[in-house]
Amino acid sequence: HGQFIPLFEPQVDLSTNRLVGFEVLARWDHPTRGLLSPDLFIPVAEEIGVIAPLSESVIAQALEAARGWDPSISLSVNISPTQLSDPWLAQRLVRLLTEYNFPAERLVVEVTESSLFSDLDLARSLVLSLKNQGVRIALDDFGTGFSSLSQLRLLPIDRSFVSSVDKDRESAAIIKAVTTLAQALSVPVTVEGLEDAATLDRMVVLGASTGQGWYFGKPMSAEAVGELLARRAAEAPPSGRRTG
Ligand code: C2E
Ligand code: MG
Repeated sequence: HGQFIPLFEPQVDLSTNRLVGFEVLARWDHPTRGLLSPDLFIPVAEEIGVIAPLSESVIAQALEAARGWDPSISLSVNISPTQLSDPWLAQRLVRLLTEYNFPAERLVVEVTESSLFSDLDLARSLVLSLKNQGVRIALDDFGTGFSSLSQLRLLPIDRSFVSSVDKDRESAAIIKAVTTLAQALSVPVTVEGLEDAATLDRMVVLGASTGQGWYFGKPMSAEAVGELLARRAAEAPPSGRRTG
């Protein structure tokens, strides 16, 4: 019934403070219950085997909405672990790009670490075919849950005298290690969940390149993005004329 819709969360370049893209986040626009969070329906969609058409419908709507947007704006889309087991996933995504005339370079596909490593061969061929097309891949929720990085914090260090300051210090050390590794590999790091200026400043110091979170803006409708981009274009007209 067209009730699964995309919302768009702003992503900002932390060195220039410029809006560079949006993460596409699905919502169920329920006729009586209002906007429902993906945590409520994605697990069910996965279980009953409709996650692929659901995610693809949300991506298609996002690409459709983005047709008239500033061409410097990229879109990040989420792919569920179960979708990764579809050997045709890359082809399906590329077909969507063609259908909506959306440049591959402006698409970021977010996959979680754990889902990549459950079938390494399939994951490798997916990543290769997307990268060959120009699509960028992002490791979502990197370092949480599965990876040994998050386990690092669970080591049985005596916590009786670890103050909250020290916990912050531990987190900062892990973030610093991740951003240093990423910089060495020329991989940009996006920080999610930035809610206040103090955290933002800390993340910039620690080497994050892009950020998103409520500090920059909550997930918004396609119409709201259209208005935001129109306001932005009016405030700072781009140099040189643009067509299309
Ligand atoms: P995610 O990809 O890690 O997305 C980030 C989540 O953090 C989003 O939750 C977003 O609304 C929330 N968030 C953003 N900024 C802040 C902040 O400053 N503070 C806090 N506390 N939270 C913030 P959301 O929209 O509920 O999405 C939950 C998850 O559902 C996503 O996690 C993603 O894994 C999944 N998801 C969303 N849309 C889709 C979809 O179309 N397809 C698939 N397969 N998964 C989706
Ligand atoms: Mg994500």
